[in-house]
This record gives sequence, C-alpha cells and structure tokens, in this order.
Amino acid sequence: MQKILNYINGELIEPVSTNFIENTDPSTGEVYSLCPDSDAQDIELAYQAAEKAFPIWSETSANDRSKVMLKIADLIEKNLDELALAESIDQGKPLWLAKNGEIPRAQANIHFFATAIEHYASEAHPMGNHAINYTLRTPIGVVGCISPWNLPLYLFTWKIAPAIAAGNCVVAKPSEITPMTAYLFSKICMEAGLPKGVLNIVHGLGPKVGSAMVAHKNITAISFTGGTKTGAEIARVAAPMFKKLSLELGGKNPTLVFADCDFDKTVKEVVRASFTNQGEICLCGSRLYIERSIYEKFKTAFVGQVKALKVGDPLLPDTKVGAIASKMHFDKVLSYIELAKEEGGTILCGGVSTNPEGRCQTGYFIEPTVVEGLGHLCRTNQEEIFGPVVTIQAFDTEEEVLEMANSTDYGLACSVWTENLTKAHRVAAKMKSGIVWINCWLLRDLRTPFGGMKQSGVGREGGWEALRFFTEAKNVCIKM
Ligand code: NDP
Repeated sequence: MQKILNYINGELIEPVSTNFIENTDPSTGEVYSLCPDSDAQDIELAYQAAEKAFPIWSETSANDRSKVMLKIADLIEKNLDELALAESIDQGKPLWLAKNGEIPRAQANIHFFATAIEHYASEAHPMGNHAINYTLRTPIGVVGCISPWNLPLYLFTWKIAPAIAAGNCVVAKPSEITPMTAYLFSKICMEAGLPKGVLNIVHGLGPKVGSAMVAHKNITAISFTGGTKTGAEIARVAAPMFKKLSLELGGKNPTLVFADCDFDKTVKEVVRASFTNQGEICLCGSRLYIERSIYEKFKTAFVGQVKALKVGDPLLPDTKVGAIASKMHFDKVLSYIELAKEEGGTILCGGVSTNPEGRCQTGYFIEPTVVEGLGHLCRTNQEEIFGPVVTIQAFDTEEEVLEMANSTDYGLACSVWTENLTKAHRVAAKMKSGIVWINCWLLRDLRTPFGGMKQSGVGREGGWEALRFFTEAKNVCIKM
C-alpha cells in the first residue's frame, strides 16, 4: 500500500516513530494509503530544518524567492490531472470540481504571492523636516501552518505561499483525513528546487502533531484554518506564549433572497452556494432566508433543482455531489438531520444517506437536504453542520431578515440577492460577516481581505493582509 511520507529538510522520510495511520477513500470506504502518525519528535526535526534554512532564505532576494515559487506554480499546472484525481479520491469531491476549481486555485495562490512579494513595500511617515519614520517589515522566522480537509491543497497553499514569499521558513500540517495532495506538493517543491528546510510538511493527527507545533516555543506564529473549537484550543495554548495568530474558523452563513432578485439566476446560484463540494466549504450558505412574497415559488424551483443534483461516484463527469470526506463527518451530518427532525423541521428533499451503484456502494454519501419549518434560533440553525444540509425560512421585512441572519455566533460570509442597489449596500453594511457577496457567491479576488467576524475567526488572510501577518513591522525613526 502507498505510504505518504513527511517532507523534512528537503527529503521524504518516515515519521520517527515509524507509525502510520490508515487513509480512506470516502467514496468507497476503503483504506487506500497510509499517512505518517507523526508526533513532537517530527515537529522538532522540522523546526530544526526550518531554523537552519531561515538565515539564507530570509536573505534571498524577493525576486529569487519569487522565481522558485513560480516554478512550483508551473509544476502544479503541469500536474493538474494527477493532483485533481488525488484530491477527488482523498476528499470525495467531484473530479471536475477539483480540476476546474481547487487545483487551479492552489496554482493561483502560489503564483499570486510569488508576484505580490515583488511589489510589497512599506510605509514612510515624515515628521515635517526634522525626522522621518519608515516601517521595516522583516520575516518572522519559523512559522506554523495548519489546514483542514475540505479544500486540502487550496487551503494548504493559501497559507504556505505568503509565508515563504515573505521570507519565512515553514512547518506545515495538512489534515490527516486528506494528506495526499500535500504529499504530492512536497515532491513538486523538491522538483522546483525549493531550498531544503524552507518548507517542511509533517503529517499526522491534530491533537498530537498539530498541538506539538502550536506548543513549540520557537514556532512563533501560527496560521490556522479549521473548526472554531480547535481554534479556541490553539488560542488557549498560543496566547500565553504571545504567538502571532491568524484563525480562520467555522461559519453558519446566511443567504438573503429578496423578492426583487433576478429569480432564475438566483435559484441556480443559490443551489450552487448551498451544495458545492457537498456543502463542505466554509463559505457555503446553509440558512436560506426568502422574502415571503416569493417564498412558495422560490421553494418549488429551489427544491426542484436540488432534487436534480446527481449524487454519486466523484470520478464521473455528471456527478454534482460527491462523497462526504470521512465516516466521522458523515455520521455527524446525519445526526444533524435527525436533530432538524426532532426540532420540528420538515424534510423537503434528501434527509437520508444513499449508496450509489457500482464501485461506490460502500462510500459515504448523503442526499442534498432541504429543511423547512424551523425557527432561526434552534440548534440546527445556529450550529455549523458543514454538509449538504440547508434550511429555508420566510421573512417579511429587511429588519427581520437582518436580525435572523446575524443571530448566530458566526460571521464568516453571506450572500444577498436583490436588484435594488441601495438595498444591497444598506444590507451589506449591516451584516456582521467578513464577506458579503451581492448577486454572486464565491467570487474571489485574492487581493481582498479574507476572514470572519465573531467566532468565525481572528485576523484576515489574502493580499497585503497575509504578507503583513507573516512579517514583523518595525518602526525606524531617524532624526534629521
Ligand atoms: P478541525 O478544526 O478539526 O481541524 C483543522 C486542522 O487542525 C486539521 O489539520 C486538524 O488535524 C488540526 N487540529 C486538530 N486539533 C488540533 C489541535 N489541538 N492543535 C492543532 N491542530 C489541530 O477542522 P476540520 O478539519 O474538521 O475542518 C472543518 C472546519 O474548518 C469547519 O469548521 C470549517 O468551517 C472550517 N473551515 C474554515 C475556513 C475559513 O476560511 N474560515 C475554510 C475551510 C474550513 P486532524 O485533521 O488530524 O484532526
């Protein structure tokens, strides 16, 4: 069986313990590879390699760092088919989605920061003609990056790219549920000639190897994407050590559909916003609020299109909804569907697991589910499910929908559907969320600040925000 290896000091090696964890293909439920079960010893090795590489990498010119990164980006593009297939098998997402969305975005992440670093400049603050301040931004040192299983290579590179572009050396941990593309990525870095130790990838379990990284006293910044509970645990350990922290956490995103929306376009896009990647994108809309005057019409059209989504083998081109990433998550999503029923919800479609014919009969599949009849404060509407489950409810006024939409502890993203521009601006300003999409969803410009409010996170990624996070700002004041 294929063994995934750690990437430390420019080499692919087994974990010190020589222990491995089974890695499952969620579309069949079968173990198909082995992932290192690393621990604090491997983190220490990775740290030592990164620390050794730092003096040279941080002194390497931005232009030379950029050149290596551009080679990495080119190699991602060249290996698109292999990476997309690996991601689909590892995570359960439709192959076409990995090929058209996720892997090209991983390439774009590296390319974006490889070029951004060449334009990164600092501020100067002259004090009349008697002094001048300038801000010197220097890399931090050895930084830690931890990413989740839903968009594996996409989110992994989203952190690593700005970190190494800014001159840091990195110890990174992908999710143990989806380690394969991070492993292939380490081979790409070797082929591209990334100097050894600049990036070190340590695979394994979060509470074991992730927590060892967070607790390491010399890894002084942590960029984390994952669940809110894990983020709180990381903050608990890291805060007393005064580490720099970027936390991108969970969401419970509302979708606000006003009666004056472009009806057909909205139905189609809201289906996409709800069920892309099996609803396993932190930005998916999971609470759908529809203005009462179009509620019944919208519900009928929406449910009709959701029922038409083909659930099945992620490798087939007509599959729209693939497998849930793991058995544990599959059970969690089903338990929330049970909760929705207990709380009085009516299942309009889906609500059950399904076994596609053929090779995927033993995989983890759930029919896209739409639930009606729940109050906005019940657990189903307050807690993150992170699967193909959406609730719908009617509203009468703008004030009412804002109140319902803002009622959760989360504040990551939302989408608003209206042709009234004034209303769109007004609602956007009042939404307590880090991202507001008007008449679109998941339209991303990598220069914009990305992140959540409330329990959806602390800090922002993307563009200059990411490069600022991965550098220390020093004020130098010169008296004339
Ligand atoms: P988790 O929080 O369970 O895990 C995220 C990562 O942290 C994994 O690599 C995990 O390892 C690791 N980890 C777990 N425990 C610890 C620990 N104590 N110390 C350090 N690292 C640890 O999230 P999921 O992987 O389940 O991902 C889903 C969550 O991610 C959802 O809540 C989703 O909303 C959120 N998310 C947020 C995004 C955003 O941009 N705001 C984007 C995408 C997802 P292991 O897998 O081995 O447990």
